[in-house]
Amino acid sequence: MSMIAHASFDVNALTIQQTTTPGQLPPSQSLVFGQQFTDHMLTIKWHAQTGWQAPEIKPYGDLAISPAATVLHYAPTLFEGMKAYKDENGMARLFRPDMNMARMLRGASRMGFPTFNGDDLIHLIKKLVALDEHFIPADPGCSLYIRPTMIGTRASLGVGPSDEVLLFVIASPVGKYYPTGAKPVSLLASSRDVRAWPGGCGSYKFGANYAPSVQVQQQAAALGYNQILWLFGPEHEITEVGMMNCFVVKRRPDGKTELITPPLDTGLILPGVTRDSVLQLARAHADPVHPLKIAGLPQDLEVVERRICMTEIVEAVANDSLVELFGTGTAAVISSVERIGFEGSDVVVPCGQSGMGDFASAFLAEIEARQYGRVESDWSVVVA
Ligand SMILES: *Cc1c(COP(=O)(O)O)cnc(C)c1O
Repeated sequence: MSMIAHASFDVNALTIQQTTTPGQLPPSQSLVFGQQFTDHMLTIKWHAQTGWQAPEIKPYGDLAISPAATVLHYAPTLFEGMKAYKDENGMARLFRPDMNMARMLRGASRMGFPTFNGDDLIHLIKKLVALDEHFIPADPGCSLYIRPTMIGTRASLGVGPSDEVLLFVIASPVGKYYPTGAKPVSLLASSRDVRAWPGGCGSYKFGANYAPSVQVQQQAAALGYNQILWLFGPEHEITEVGMMNCFVVKRRPDGKTELITPPLDTGLILPGVTRDSVLQLARAHADPVHPLKIAGLPQDLEVVERRICMTEIVEAVANDSLVELFGTGTAAVISSVERIGFEGSDVVVPCGQSGMGDFASAFLAEIEARQYGRVESDWSVVVA
């Protein structure tokens, strides 16, 4: 392994080659998640001997890599998911991009990839977004999904360090996640197939975590469920909802309401930006001296990160103390759950008349107001 410090790339060395065949933003109704792309992409190469190369923005197009590239065999690959939003004044905004960078760098370290300065990558992502700004749909609920990715490109069938890495960023205009209004999801709880385990890599956005879930998801779909509720261990601990973090709202015997999400220290949970945003908003609301008060939420709210098992959910449904269950993630922001298939029967979860529970819709409104810049917040970063 090279002893060269990874340092960071030189943002001033950026070269921009503009497309000669500019495309157009398709109408919002025709957008399919992740299938249409903007005109340009950002690429930055790294080599163990020479370090980071000059960043390039160039026309979106295929990559050329060796069929022996390690990414194609042993999956050294990680990704991020973030969005740019158009505000009412037509300005592009990113939402908490520092959180995506911190998570990407954590993943890069675990993967043995080179690290970099997260602010430098945000700077370059802003350049890409500014160049392709006309691809951000301005319709309500629409955005530009941004996909930073790192892959190991060393041409070698030996399992070994990634001494050649490509960092690239592509972007895809996306429509409203639920075009016909909020739709609650049904879950099939899986205790046989496990997404993440202690000491594993489930808390990183590593490509290898996602391919094995597809067939499990297909089996759930064949049984009429939208997503998998990933469980862990003999007590059927709740971990995640498909590719979303999981929140449970319960009324306690003392009359207080509890907002529960599994803790991060088990290694079973992907540390979601939306998860963190919901927790911060809920804690601010529950804090008597904090000015933020979220309409529709009870004042005596307890916000807790703790393990929660299926027996607790089943019991709460039986004694009518389960208020809501919802998933959080950048793509849909918040999705309410309406039922969970578990051990041969369906557990029915309350989710409101509108397809979204009161907590889910309150958090969705607060988060969207910040994403689209309607509420001033240091979470929202204007693309200058
Ligand atoms: C990306 C992801 C999430 C959600 O993270 P956000 O930063 O909120 O988008 C949750 N769970 C898994 C498994 C994920 O990959």
